[in-house]
Amino acid sequence: MPTKTQQDIDRYARDLNPEVYTSVYGGTKATTEKRHDVLFHDYPDPDLLRRTAGEVKQHTLENLDTYLPKAEAALKANGAQVHFAADGDAANRIILEIMKANGAKSMVKSKSMVSEETGLGHFLEDNGMKCLETDLGEFIIQIDHDHPSHIVKPIAHKNRRDIAKSFEREGLGDYNDDPATITRRAREFLRGKYFEADVGLTGANFVSAESGRLAIVTNEGNARFCMAATPIHIGIVGIEKLIPHDRDLALFTSLIGRSGTGQHLTVYTQFINGPRRFGQPDGPEQMHVVFVDNKRTEVLASNCREILRCIRCGACLNVCPVYRQASGHAYRSVYPGPVGAVLSPLLAGTRFPELADLPKASSLCGACNEVCPVNIPIPDLLLRLRDKAKTEHAGRAMKGTPPMGMYGLLASQPHAWRAAMTMGAAMNLTPNAVMNIIPPAAAWNSCRQLPKWRGGKFRHWMKERGKN
Ligand code: SF4
Repeated sequence: MPTKTQQDIDRYARDLNPEVYTSVYGGTKATTEKRHDVLFHDYPDPDLLRRTAGEVKQHTLENLDTYLPKAEAALKANGAQVHFAADGDAANRIILEIMKANGAKSMVKSKSMVSEETGLGHFLEDNGMKCLETDLGEFIIQIDHDHPSHIVKPIAHKNRRDIAKSFEREGLGDYNDDPATITRRAREFLRGKYFEADVGLTGANFVSAESGRLAIVTNEGNARFCMAATPIHIGIVGIEKLIPHDRDLALFTSLIGRSGTGQHLTVYTQFINGPRRFGQPDGPEQMHVVFVDNKRTEVLASNCREILRCIRCGACLNVCPVYRQASGHAYRSVYPGPVGAVLSPLLAGTRFPELADLPKASSLCGACNEVCPVNIPIPDLLLRLRDKAKTEHAGRAMKGTPPMGMYGLLASQPHAWRAAMTMGAAMNLTPNAVMNIIPPAAAWNSCRQLPKWRGGKFRHWMKERGKN
């Protein structure tokens, strides 16, 4: 899992480049507005759909021991080869072995969050394989040696001028920041690569346990090129991506585009359930599906299991006031935003304390839950994780936490409380330099404006009121 920075989220937001802030804030706000317009225009009760989708996913998760073998059997019956990976390293090794066994040297790859989790691209390059990202955003991340900052829009933190400079540097044409020119140049560069590659790798948005069918939604058509133009297709899939039946795909494909990008439907929706059959002109000769656990069964056993319903639409990122201020890199993990604040510390396993501050990156306003197409109670999960951090004494989560014990003591002693209220007025006369001598106060003060102390006025008002 890449670590962009070890800074805390509030400091990262404070130091954010204004151009990055403008890109992230503008993009997320516009997408949230489109999502609302499209969903409420198309459906009389979008909440009913969200609740239904949440129940279907929760049912699947609670019966994974039934649905996973069912999907495996269906895929095998269709001629696909099925692999199970306990963790990210195992998934990477399985994929490397498939390539070696077939004499393959190069891969074209479409966007897959689980492959970001496992660090597949770097692993293959380190083992002598070529691995080219074909999603436009991921391609730009690859040539810039950067990290994605959004689940759906990996380059949410960049603008077209940044991209034009990268293309010029990589010899993809003179500086030109016209979006149509940028996409045309990327298309011209990538098109031939599909036919040269030995292996095409995709993720899957959903897998039907009934038929083994992988459903993949994209807006660029690159996933279907990866599957159709190469002789070997590998699908890498988190075990939580299962849904029970093919008919459930109608519900989920209706929700994912509308929630994630405000589209009625994503531009391309592919279904594939096996390799090319006898007589079919196109398609891969081999199809492999790698189901990845990577701590998902631990999450399933925890009191935050609802997070596994996530369909990676990105709606909670777009609506989150913290994500909009801080951008995705502030979360120091593959999954940013509200979903990341829950999922990343859970997937970190024994490294939980390193990410235990993420659940604090929320005002608990509840907007993430309202937009989530599978109705995940994200604020509740954040509170459960804050409790876990406190119980396990995760130092990082406690940093900057106000001393509530002192507050509790004062609030329960009327005389002490009255004295504190009177002395509090002295804070207005205290220069910032004095505040910064005390380490916890300095940390708090470094990214906030201390408001003027107004304590005591309410008590005074109550006292005067009682006299009348
Ligand atoms: S938690 Fe919900 S809103 Fe956020 S990415 Fe997952 S499905 Fe979308």
